[in-house]
Amino acid sequence: MRTVNGWAAHTPGAALAPWRFQRRELRPTDVALRVTHAGLCFTDLDSVRPEPGPARPELFPLVPGHEIVGEVVAVGSAVTAFAIGDPVCVGNIVDSCGACEACRSGDQEFCVQFPTLTYAGRDRHDGSMTQGGFSDEYVADQAFVYHRPATLDPAGTAPLMCAGITTWVPLRRWEVGPGQTVGVIGLGGLGHVAVKLAKALGAEVVGFTTSPAKAKDLRDLGADDVVLSADVEAMAAQRGRFDFILDTVPHPHDLSPYLTALRFDRTLCTLGIVPELRFNPQALLFGRKRLAGAGSGGIAATQEMLDFCAAHDVTATVEVLPIAEVNTALDRLAAGDVRYRFVLEVG
Ligand SMILES: [Zn+2]
Ligand SMILES: [Zn+2]
Repeated sequence: MRTVNGWAAHTPGAALAPWRFQRRELRPTDVALRVTHAGLCFTDLDSVRPEPGPARPELFPLVPGHEIVGEVVAVGSAVTAFAIGDPVCVGNIVDSCGACEACRSGDQEFCVQFPTLTYAGRDRHDGSMTQGGFSDEYVADQAFVYHRPATLDPAGTAPLMCAGITTWVPLRRWEVGPGQTVGVIGLGGLGHVAVKLAKALGAEVVGFTTSPAKAKDLRDLGADDVVLSADVEAMAAQRGRFDFILDTVPHPHDLSPYLTALRFDRTLCTLGIVPELRFNPQALLFGRKRLAGAGSGGIAATQEMLDFCAAHDVTATVEVLPIAEVNTALDRLAAGDVRYRFVLEVG
């Protein structure tokens, strides 16, 4: 076994603390990477500080972190795609069944047997619990390890592995590009990357925000226009403007004004994990609009996204903290006090 130093919550709600634990020895197709940076996603916060509900103490001790950047330090005997020293990344899934309809179509994130999560998942071979990237080393099958373009800032690359791929897949699925007007709702970890990606894809990008203070931020990120979503008149004036709208807001809100803002036969895709969605069905029906969902991405899409980001010099806008300050980062993320993603220096 490989002894690793990480940061774990030992019980639900507990602060993260240093924890020495074991990772598996390399299987023939495994890659071990020295982790240098790991992004802090809202899912990490939710995992270590779960909302009141059915507790899952069996998941603890839990090492979060699924936006992982590092360098290869060892490879299994059958690894051909990676060599020691290669810059690499790992995202939020690390295995899947490989045989189901979703896996065969390259959408491993929707494996019908459920993909193996990067942490708090069950390894498909030995049944052990996976532990995440807030640790000095990670081990994964080479199929779920990605070549990291060396030209990109490593810290800014980390959030691409969750926020980036999660927004990239719908932008590609609905063929966002030149000549289109795309709306992005919300300006957090996901939304700010979505603005950058949609802009790099050549679309006219419009940011929706509740906060006048964020209007300038949106323009600085590349948005061509900003609409204050609390302004009823401004929202009504958007009728029929958009070819595609990506909703990244993680709390309940009324989708009707956004559906109305779509052009005929266009799509609004929601990414926020919310307890419920509200909309007037007439806003969907009139104009044959579509309401869709997405989340994360498969192997090919993830590498495509990284290569696109290298070609267009896109990275997340991050605040970097040493891993020893992870609890401060969690507190500030819980308070919404981050522009726009924390990345922890792990090495
Ligand atoms: Zn995430
Ligand atoms: Zn599958």
